Amino acid sequence: MLAYSRLAYKNHDHDQCIVVALKKAEAVCEKKNVRLTAIRKHVFKEVWSSHQPVGAYDIVDSLALNVNTGKRIKAPSVYRALEFLTKLRLIHRISTLNAYIGRSFSEKIYNNFFLICRNCRVTAECSTDQINNVIEHTAERTGFLVEQQVVEIIGLCPECKKEE
Ligand SMILES: [Zn+2]
Ligand SMILES: [Zn+2]
Repeated sequence: MLAYSRLAYKNHDHDQCIVVALKKAEAVCEKKNVRLTAIRKHVFKEVWSSHQPVGAYDIVDSLALNVNTGKRIKAPSVYRALEFLTKLRLIHRISTLNAYIGRSFSEKIYNNFFLICRNCRVTAECSTDQINNVIEHTAERTGFLVEQQVVEIIGLCPECKKEE
């Protein structure tokens, strides 16, 4: 079964994506008995601000500007929050872009892949057991222990394809 976040490449009410993602994140944190602190929540929302992956530096910049309390959120706090959210699989680091994206299928461990538009950077997370099975079987046959699986596909999204 192939499931993908088809919304990424369509006009949609993105606020709704953020609401759903935040609800999921809160549920995951509650289940794991960890806290979604204010900083972690800020960072999570910043990553989810669009379907384009966000760099850590951009998050540091935006949070420093947004906070009116006089307290600046320092870079190390942002990095720690990113690490925390990544560990919980709520966000994912796109290696190709060195940037973070909110995850739609955080419950799956390995079998996700990402379609990344090289023009507008909009990225869609997709999930299928087929790829996962092939990788698992290959690893098994070679006696290899899979610790991390990165499948990133670069190309053009429907909009950018029209323009080319
Ligand atoms: Zn959206
Ligand atoms: Zn595009």
